[in-house]
Amino acid sequence: MSRTHDLIVVGAGPAGASAARAARAGGLSVALVDKAAFPRDKLCGGGITGRCRQHLDAVFGTGFAAGLCLTTTHVRLTDRGRPLGDLPDAPPIHMTMRRDFDAALASAAVAAGADPFLGRRIAAMDPAAGTVRLADGTALSAPVLIGADGVASPVAKALYGRAFDPARTALALEVEVPDRDGVAVEIDLAAVPWGYGWDFPKAQGRTLGLGGIGRRAGDLEAALAAFLAPRGAGGAAAACKGAFLPAGDYRRTPGRGRALLAGDAAGLVDPITGEGIGWAVLSGALAARAAADALAVGAPDTALARYRRALAPVHRELAWANRLKHLVYAPRLRPLFLRVLEREPEVQRRFLALLAGERDYADMGLASFRRMAGRMLRAALARPA
Ligand SMILES: Cc1cc2nc3c(=O)[nH]c(=O)nc-3n(C[C@H](O)[C@H](O)[C@H](O)COP(=O)(O)OP(=O)(O)OC[C@H]3O[C@@H](n4cnc5c(N)ncnc54)[C@H](O)[C@@H]3O)c2cc1C
Repeated sequence: MSRTHDLIVVGAGPAGASAARAARAGGLSVALVDKAAFPRDKLCGGGITGRCRQHLDAVFGTGFAAGLCLTTTHVRLTDRGRPLGDLPDAPPIHMTMRRDFDAALASAAVAAGADPFLGRRIAAMDPAAGTVRLADGTALSAPVLIGADGVASPVAKALYGRAFDPARTALALEVEVPDRDGVAVEIDLAAVPWGYGWDFPKAQGRTLGLGGIGRRAGDLEAALAAFLAPRGAGGAAAACKGAFLPAGDYRRTPGRGRALLAGDAAGLVDPITGEGIGWAVLSGALAARAAADALAVGAPDTALARYRRALAPVHRELAWANRLKHLVYAPRLRPLFLRVLEREPEVQRRFLALLAGERDYADMGLASFRRMAGRMLRAALARPA
């Protein structure tokens, strides 16, 4: 069987579901393809920031999936368990389980009229030509294709030969535990080199994990065991699972020909916070709008250039985060950063506003960057001999 649509979206996670939903809003016919049937599991802390909420509201409607989140304003910052700051009135952060959250996103895209090809394996594809053949023989074609198929993106692999550069990508390990005590989020900023650990409360239980960038993060399994034990979750270490995140390693040109990449497939994950869901939702929607605008003027070849322009502010944010991550995570600087964080409640509040997506790196600008470096220098000079 052959089917022709205006747009094929490969991957129905946050980026793909948003792309499909936004494309339907723009009047396009859409094939939404995923190898998984939903609900399916996705390794993730499930932290939804304020920024992500805004993107969800814009694409899926106000308050979307609010019932699937536990919202908290209590954040603890720690240094290998040692308290650095306890903020009961931090900016709100919403904790979800991706299994349910992603199923709700995919359902909303299908309810908007996307043609679902979920739980259907792809046998072959030529993304730049807009063709996909499913394992059951169904042939799909469209003038534009969006690859929203995650960090190991088969679409990116078909376009570039490989999906991501393991040396520049973060690896994270996670466990779920059934019990929790309160609703505080803990962020341990020294749990692992070039990364951090998290203990996120969920409606039921907690998600604990840690991740760091490339080989510089060291022995993650040992770090996870050391992180879990004092938090009463040592028994869960054997059940940990791992996944890559393309933290900060974004593609300057997000696609090739008539194929556009969104979400993790385009490398859109914050290298400091590990946030990727919000960027996935936004980039999926931007890619779909670029496709709709290009098709409206009969010029599908212009979709990529339109998308790249629309994505420029996101790239700017990630470029800033890539610079700033050295102040936060470089082994020589991190002790100074943590000392400043511990001593200065104002810096704690600003850091949490960044984590919660209430402030942008680009808005903070060079002046904030310099002020932070100055504070760290003063902390270094004040160090006892
Ligand atoms: C351990 C960990 C913790 C994280 N914690 C957070 C957090 O707390 N907050 C946050 O904002 N971000 C977090 N992230 C990042 C976040 O999970 C990703 O950025 C986000 O899932 C990206 O969405 P996406 O739609 O691009 O990709 P995905 O969510 O990975 O979806 C990709 C989809 O493509 C499908 N697919 C893959 N291959 C194929 C194929 N061959 N054919 C068809 N379909 C295919 C998959 O089945 C999947 O449904 C975390 C990541 C990890 C690994």
